[in-house]
Amino acid sequence: MKKPLIGLIPLVDVERDSYWMMPPYFEALEEAGALPVMLPLTADEGALAQILEMCSGLLFTGGPDADPALYGEEKLPACGLVVPRRDEMELRLFRMALAADKPVLGICRGIQLFNVALGGTLWQDLPSQAPSVIQHEQKPPYDQPAHKVSILPGTPLAALLGRAEANVTSRHHQAIKALAPGLQAMACSPDGLVEAVWMPDKRFVWGVQWHPEHTCKTSEDSRRLFAAFVEQCV
Ligand code: MN
Repeated sequence: MKKPLIGLIPLVDVERDSYWMMPPYFEALEEAGALPVMLPLTADEGALAQILEMCSGLLFTGGPDADPALYGEEKLPACGLVVPRRDEMELRLFRMALAADKPVLGICRGIQLFNVALGGTLWQDLPSQAPSVIQHEQKPPYDQPAHKVSILPGTPLAALLGRAEANVTSRHHQAIKALAPGLQAMACSPDGLVEAVWMPDKRFVWGVQWHPEHTCKTSEDSRRLFAAFVEQCV
């Protein structure tokens, strides 16, 4: 049986002028029965249409901050590096994926990108704009949980995990500020950040602020999340 092909948004190293990928993204998808491939960095509509046709699902990976101009804000000094070529590719590909109702999973930057694409806004820098006792930028080891999230009842994440709470990793200095219309929250951190979203009218559009790919070896929750995604990628 052929494995579902899942396209990964490439990581971009501007300094080294290179594209790259972190093994845990591949490993998590492979262990869930998929065949992951890294996509080229392109915003060409024809190329993206072909990619969409070829792939059974798309993984929107972690990465740099989205350009605040995309949600109508001036870039603050504490906002990180932006990579406009990635923003352009991902916004276009995400919208095309929605139109085609392709399964998509967004991780870290991914959930933020979905929110921006659908008209929401982001905290450009949590430590300075929304200080909290919760540690959202954990120190290594990155496969250990950093904080809890409460899972909203009635959401597919609650159905998947069968619990009202989960322990998650946390490596982000940005987060959803105003949740976009169209997205619904599935999990929140104790300080009130939306850390997981879904789109009820789509086959599988899920975003998580944490990094389940780092905890597939230790967390059944993480394995279930990837399995749920890959199951929809047929
Ligand atoms: Mn967090």
